[in-house]
Amino acid sequence: MYLTMKSVIITSAFCLSAVISHAQDSVMFRRISDEIMLKGTCYENLRVLCKTVGHRLSGTPAAAKAVTWGEKAMKEAGADNVWLQPVNVPYWYRGKESLELKLNGKYKTVPALSLGNSKGTDGKTLEAPIVMVADFAALEALPDKDVKGKIIFFNYRFRQDFVNSFEGYGDAVAYRWKSPNIAAKRGAAGVIIRSMSTGEDDFPHTGSMHYDDSVVAKLPEMAIGNQSADALEAACKKGTVTARMTSECHMMEKMVPSYNVIGEIKGTEQPERIITVGGHLDSWDVGEGAHDDGAGCVQSIEVIRALKAIGYKPKYTIRAVLFMNEENGNKGGHAYADSAVARKEQHVLAIESDAGGFSPRGIGMEMSDAQKEHIKSYRHLFLPYNIHDFEHEEGGVDISPLYYKHKVPMAGLMPDSQRYFDYHHTANDVFEQVNHRELKLGAVVMTQLIYLVCEHGL
Ligand SMILES: [Zn+2]
Repeated sequence: MYLTMKSVIITSAFCLSAVISHAQDSVMFRRISDEIMLKGTCYENLRVLCKTVGHRLSGTPAAAKAVTWGEKAMKEAGADNVWLQPVNVPYWYRGKESLELKLNGKYKTVPALSLGNSKGTDGKTLEAPIVMVADFAALEALPDKDVKGKIIFFNYRFRQDFVNSFEGYGDAVAYRWKSPNIAAKRGAAGVIIRSMSTGEDDFPHTGSMHYDDSVVAKLPEMAIGNQSADALEAACKKGTVTARMTSECHMMEKMVPSYNVIGEIKGTEQPERIITVGGHLDSWDVGEGAHDDGAGCVQSIEVIRALKAIGYKPKYTIRAVLFMNEENGNKGGHAYADSAVARKEQHVLAIESDAGGFSPRGIGMEMSDAQKEHIKSYRHLFLPYNIHDFEHEEGGVDISPLYYKHKVPMAGLMPDSQRYFDYHHTANDVFEQVNHRELKLGAVVMTQLIYLVCEHGL
């Protein structure tokens, strides 16, 4: 084969325009990065959210305060329009709770948290012997007489052999979500679980559980930290251990009116086409919801602020959304997707940051292969920002209804995962655990990705 002069000219003209466009993109990537790293306000926003609002479980007065905070922060970021999208959310109430374990013959209170959505002991004390099992199969193998009336301790460890800790979480989380259903079927009286935790400490991790519709009894369920779990494991191997569980937690009967907080920059050429970027505003009712998911909220607001600050005029409309109720219902994610359909909106892409405010390493994608390849073709632009992993299928819980119900492509920021499950859903998920540079770098990547899709489509 030889090249005709015409094809040489066409080829080089194409290459030249590609080179120019990539050079421009690379300059814009740097402008976005400089703006956020030098003048970003996301870290200060996170401080205000964590220290003036604190934790903010759906339906609580603190969640309402977070909505007010989000609306103000979105306006200060310079969004063209800011509004609140109504959504009714569940309100799970924790109340007083305690767990005592009879270790070495004496009752001792250990740090414990009831699991979200669970029903406690109505404030009464449940006292019963503990039966330790390694996993669901081990419980299944026990005769009824060893299970009936007992408190089952599911001693399932968070596996350390997964390099990506989200895989370890995915592996272990069934023990939090459905243990009470499985134990109730066998006639047990209560459930204790080893926390879904990578931390070698004693912080218990809360999180959602779920009672099956067919469940025969709604058993109380509490999580303990790894150190208490180790001590309980050792004691159970030696002999019988009894426990006293006392908890007031329950789901409130009525749903509570709440909101998703939305801020947008109107598109200049195709304003009807929308890119969504978001995190979730609610958190569990311990700690400050700093990594989960204050980080994703302030990063999404930072996208708006940075694009406004550098004077970028996006072709498409860009929306930052602070979703309500990711943790125990995902009502906000569904309300947003339902509204998109009702208003016949055209969604180009949805991006979520809900994996912690740690150093970004990649962009997870759930979209067609052609769309993935299109984003991957810009990999060289991301490499100087340490973004190299484009191989995982990730999105986010809040944006998943857009994806599953309406086939909107979704992407998820993928930070380094080594420490997320040290803090996740604990009293230790506080502002001080977030590094300002790592948090800002996440916002940089989210803004760069949105810029690329605005310029080159998807
Ligand atoms: Zn989260």
